[in-house]
Amino acid sequence: MDEERDGERTPVREGGKAGRKTSGRDGRSRERSTAPGRPAPHRGRPSSGSGPGRRPRARRSRLRFTRRFYILLGLLVGIILLVVLVLSLSGGSGGDFRSLQASVKLSDSELNRLKVNELGAVMILAYHRIGDEGKQSRTPENFLSDLEYLYEQGYRCISLRELVANHITVAPGYTPVVITFDESDPSQFRYLEEDGRLQIDPRCAVGIMERFASEHPDFNMTATFFVLPELFGQEEYAEVKLRYLVERGYDIGVHTLNHVELGGLNDARVLEELAGSVRLVKGYLPDYEPFAIALPGGSRPRNMSLLDHGEYEGVKIAFVAALLEGSNPATAPCDRNFDPLNLPRVLAMDPSLDTSDSGLYAWLRYFMENPERRYVSDGDPFTVTVPRHMEDRVSREKLGDRRLRLY
Ligand SMILES: [Zn+2]
Repeated sequence: MDEERDGERTPVREGGKAGRKTSGRDGRSRERSTAPGRPAPHRGRPSSGSGPGRRPRARRSRLRFTRRFYILLGLLVGIILLVVLVLSLSGGSGGDFRSLQASVKLSDSELNRLKVNELGAVMILAYHRIGDEGKQSRTPENFLSDLEYLYEQGYRCISLRELVANHITVAPGYTPVVITFDESDPSQFRYLEEDGRLQIDPRCAVGIMERFASEHPDFNMTATFFVLPELFGQEEYAEVKLRYLVERGYDIGVHTLNHVELGGLNDARVLEELAGSVRLVKGYLPDYEPFAIALPGGSRPRNMSLLDHGEYEGVKIAFVAALLEGSNPATAPCDRNFDPLNLPRVLAMDPSLDTSDSGLYAWLRYFMENPERRYVSDGDPFTVTVPRHMEDRVSREKLGDRRLRLY
């Protein structure tokens, strides 16, 4: 029955298809080149001076009419061919759909049908290892099936940065999801050497995500890696891996130096852990700002201001997001309860091991049964669309210069 209910929530527009209507620049320049030119000079035979009879003149004007008709017909056919050409050229790319989305304006009935709710909850998924199945580990097959299931159920990736900045660019009718990995375990990113060539292990998390991304470009595959000094093992490739991740649009965050619970430390020790982890990343990527931290054990420092206003031995600490271990989805970025330094997460684990009913599949089921609790995008990152009865939960401050639309 859940499937049935979910089936109603068919998203209106898929990224790839929406792309077909774009490529305006191309279309315009072509249209201009085929725009009708000056009227063709009259090429009829000069009339003889000796009083032309009625019949020949009628024939000439009929001839002129027929010629004009064919010119118009030719133009019409030309324009139709041009439109077909432009549509077919832009169809394959699907790349420009975000700019189109910004102009998508859904009617109230579409909003109702899609249950658009940009105050709904957003899951930030926590992964640790890819290997044997366990509470903090998924097999490669099950990790892939998590991605497939999320995709089928209308979820699309956004980065943690986009969530915190409230710049959510998923297509109308879809739900954003954030994927994170803690501890930089070797199973997250492993190189294999084959015949002297370096290859990403297709069974490590990055290998699986890269393949999934190429097969599902509209999933917008991305993730944030909260690293420890272990840095995915394979010490010789630590820098190569970090650079690869950043270049491919993944994000790097930190997870302290010694995987300690910050709640039990004094300020000086907290700063040491935070600054040390920032320095670790910047040692490999000097221009990169590790903007977020996953707090080991979900333990928050007693002095929370150290997270976003700290400084230690010349290292500035200015995290814009701090993640808990947590067991529930986060509130939407415009919700007055949204706290970027207190973001709960949902553990991605097999339902058979989920004794507390708080893992990924428990929440997926919850959102099927309670579709009004799920974040559903209006497709326009500059407008926040919310059912009217939830208006009082919107934080005007967090809304910033975005437009609020109630329905
Ligand atoms: Zn950890």
